Amino acid sequence: MVIKYNPQEIEKKWQQKWAEDRLYEVSEDDPRPKWYALTMFPYTSGDLHIGHWYAEAPADVHARFNRMQGYNVLHPIGFDAFGLPAENAAISRGIHPFTWTMQNIDNMRRQLKSIGAIYDWSREVVTCLPEYYKWTQWFFLKLYENGLAYRGKAPVNWCPRCQTVLANEQVVDGFCERCGAAVTRRDLEQWFFRITKYADELMEHSGINWPERIRIMQRNWVGKSVGTEISFALEQPGVDEREIRVFTTRPDTTFGVTFMVLAPEHPLVAKLTSPDKKAEVEEYVARSRRQTEIERLSTEKEKDGVFIGAYVVNRLNGEKVPIWIADYVLLSYGTGAVMGVPAHDERDFAFAKKYNLPIRVVIAPPGWQGEELEEAYIEPGTMVNSAQFNGLPNEQGIEAISDFLEEKGWGKRTTTYRLRDWLISRQRYWGAPIPMIYCEKCGIVPVPEKDLPVLLPEDAEFKPTGESPLKYHEQFVNTVCPQCSAPAKRETDTMDTFMCSSWYFLRYTSPNCDAAPFEADRVRRWLPVDLYTGGAEHAVMHLLYARFFTKALRDMGLVDFGEPFSRLFNQGVIIAKRQKMSKSRGNVITPDEYVSELGADAVRAYLMFVAPWEQGGDWNDSGISGVSRWLNRLWNLMLGGYSWDGEVSLAVRQKAERELSRITHQTIQKVTEDMEKLRFNTMIASLMEFTNYLAKVKETKAVAASSWKESIDTLLLLLAPTVPHLAEELWQQTGHNYSIHNQSWPKWDEALTKEEEITLVVQVNGKLRDRIIVPASTTEVEAKQIAAASTRVEPYLAGIEPPNIRYIYVQGRLVNIVVKQDKETV
Ligand SMILES: [Zn+2]
Ligand SMILES: [Zn+2]
Repeated sequence: MVIKYNPQEIEKKWQQKWAEDRLYEVSEDDPRPKWYALTMFPYTSGDLHIGHWYAEAPADVHARFNRMQGYNVLHPIGFDAFGLPAENAAISRGIHPFTWTMQNIDNMRRQLKSIGAIYDWSREVVTCLPEYYKWTQWFFLKLYENGLAYRGKAPVNWCPRCQTVLANEQVVDGFCERCGAAVTRRDLEQWFFRITKYADELMEHSGINWPERIRIMQRNWVGKSVGTEISFALEQPGVDEREIRVFTTRPDTTFGVTFMVLAPEHPLVAKLTSPDKKAEVEEYVARSRRQTEIERLSTEKEKDGVFIGAYVVNRLNGEKVPIWIADYVLLSYGTGAVMGVPAHDERDFAFAKKYNLPIRVVIAPPGWQGEELEEAYIEPGTMVNSAQFNGLPNEQGIEAISDFLEEKGWGKRTTTYRLRDWLISRQRYWGAPIPMIYCEKCGIVPVPEKDLPVLLPEDAEFKPTGESPLKYHEQFVNTVCPQCSAPAKRETDTMDTFMCSSWYFLRYTSPNCDAAPFEADRVRRWLPVDLYTGGAEHAVMHLLYARFFTKALRDMGLVDFGEPFSRLFNQGVIIAKRQKMSKSRGNVITPDEYVSELGADAVRAYLMFVAPWEQGGDWNDSGISGVSRWLNRLWNLMLGGYSWDGEVSLAVRQKAERELSRITHQTIQKVTEDMEKLRFNTMIASLMEFTNYLAKVKETKAVAASSWKESIDTLLLLLAPTVPHLAEELWQQTGHNYSIHNQSWPKWDEALTKEEEITLVVQVNGKLRDRIIVPASTTEVEAKQIAAASTRVEPYLAGIEPPNIRYIYVQGRLVNIVVKQDKETV
C-alpha cells in the first residue's frame, strides 16, 4: 500500500532538516571550483509575489544543478531595505520605517524559505542595518577622497508628489518612475558621483556575456557623440558675452545655418532679448517652464518658438543669424544652444517652413540643379555654397571645416555624452545618511572613518515637507567639526538606495566582516559573479551603477576586476489572463496559496515549464494542476514497487533493457544541455516524457529489476534541482542515504545514446530490390513509407494506386510490396 504524496508534509520536513544540518551553508575552504550565482535581491515591499518566485525559483534550480555538477556554489539572499515606500508607509500609516521594513523582511524571509532554495541564510544582508550602511557610508568617503563624489548646485528632477529629487534614471519619459507624476525642475545643492568619468568604459561590454538588448540600452544611455563645438560671435552692445557655442555632429553644414535656437532657460535670453520682443519672449519662457521634458521633446508636438530680436554672426561667412528660442532645446543637454540648418535637418526644416526662414542647400543631393528642397536632405553629397570647401564630398568636409575652425580658434572637436553625473542626494529619512559635516570655518569636512556609522536617529518626524526629516532633528543636525571642534552641522540628505545595491554582491562573501566592507581574499575568490539573474528593468540604473562602482573600486585598488557580473540573464514576466498582474484587475497570483494547496515543488516545476524563462508566460491554473498530477504520477511510479516478469525471453529482455538504457542516457544528455542553456521548459518536457516512458516499462515488466532501479535513480537525480523536496523524499524511500542534494549529477554515455539500427530488406513481389539502414525504433507505418520512397523501388510502383498495391511487413526486418498490374492477379 503506497502512501499518498503529501507535499505540505514532506516539504516542511525537509526544509527543517536541511536547515538543521546546514546542508547549504557555503564553505570557504572547499577545494572545488567556485560558482557565484546571484539573483537580484528583493526590495522589502512586504509580500513575495509570483514575479519574485519567477526570479528566484529557476535561478535556484540552475544553482542546484551546478552544485551537483561539482561546483562550490554561493547562492546568497538578502534585502534591499532602504527607500521611499517604507517612508511613505510611515507617513500614511504611522508605522516607523524600521518597523515596517523589518516586519516585511520577516514575512518575506518566511516566504523565501518556502521556495526550498539553497540560500545560505548565514550570509543574509539587510541594507538598512547599521552594520551594512556603515560601509555604504565608508564607500561614500572613499569616493570623496578619490574625487569621485562632489557637491554642486544643479537643476534637478523634482517629483512634486513624492516631494523628492529623482535621478535621471528614475524619470521615465518625463514622469516619476515611482508614482507617475510629471517631473518638474528645481535648483538644489546636491551630492553627485562622477559616473561620467567612466562613460567610455561603461559603453564597452567586452569580456562579459550580457544580453544585447541591455548592452544597447546602456550604450544609448551613455549616448556618446563625436562632433565639433562651434563658436558663433556675439556683438551686442551692453552684453559681456562674446560668443554662443553650439555642438554639432555636422560641421560640414555650417554654411547652411540660417537661424540659431536657444533653450528658453538659457541665461543669455534675458540679456539679448530686444525691448519690442520682451513681452512675447517672457510669456513663451513661462509657458515652457510649465511643461515637462516629455511634452517638450514629444515628436508629435509641432515645434514652435519665438524670435528674440537679436543676432549672432556665423564666422565662416560673416552672416548675421537670427536668434530664436524654442522649448525643444533643453539647457541640460549640450550647450543649451543649437544651430539651425533647415536644408539638412528634418526638425530645422519644419521650423524654417513654419516661420518662413531661409533654407540654404550646402550639401547637394545627386543631380541637384539648384531647385528648392521638398524635404531636408540628410544623406551624403557634395558641398556647395560653402566658399573654399565647395566640391568636397561632405564626409571630407566634416574634417576640413573642423580643421579650419580649430586653426582659427573658432571651434574644437569634442565628444559629448548624454550621461550625466549620478545625483545621489535624497531629501528623505529612510536611507544611509551622507557622512559629511559643514563647518563655518573649515567648510565641507568628511566624518572620520572611526566615527562611522552616522546612525539614523530613531525619533524623526515624518511629514511630506520635501525636505529630509533629519533637517528638523536638532540632535542629529548639530555636531562638532572633526577638524576644529567648533559647532558644525551634519548633512541631512540621505543616499540614493541604488548606492546600497551597488556593492551588496561583495558583502555576501563576508557578511560579518567588521573591519572592512569585505574581506579582500574572499572577494578575490568569489567575484566576479558568474551568473547574475534579474529583471531587464534595471538596465540603466542598478546595472550601470554597479558597473561604475566596481570600476571605481578597481581604480582605488580595492578589487582586482572591473566588471562585477560575468554573465547576465534577464527573465521574462509572468502575467495572468494575458495581462500584467494588478490588484485593480483582480488577477494577482499569490504564490502562498498555491504552495499550501499543491506544494512548493509544483509551483517551482510549473514556473519552469510555463514558458522559456527569458520570455515569461501566462499563469494558468489548469497548467499547474497538470504539473501537480505529473508529480503525483512520479510518486506512484517510484513507490509502487517493480517486479520483473520472469517469463520474458532473454532476447526480449535484452532488447527492452537496451532501449531503456538508451532513453535514459538520451534524457540525461537532453536535461543537462537544457540546464546549461537555462532552457527549463524543454527540460521539464523531457522529464515528463521520460516519466511516461518509465510507466510503460513498468507495465511491460520486461526489464530486470536492477535496470529499472538504475533508471528511476537517474530520474530522481535529474529531478533533484527542480523539485528538491520530492526528490529528497523519494531518494530516501527508495533506499538511498541522505542527501540526494549531495550526489553528483548523472553523466551520459555518448555510445549508449545512439539509436540502434537495423537493415530493412525491401522486396517487390518477393524480389529483393533494396536494403535500407533505419533506426530500430522505426514503426510499421514509417517502414512502409521508407520502402516505397526508395529510388530502386519507385519505378515498380509508378502509376499504381491502391487497392492494387499491398504491403507485407515483417517486424524489424522486411517490407515486401505486392503490386498488381492492371487485369493481372497477384
Ligand atoms: Zn513621484
Ligand atoms: Zn571646522
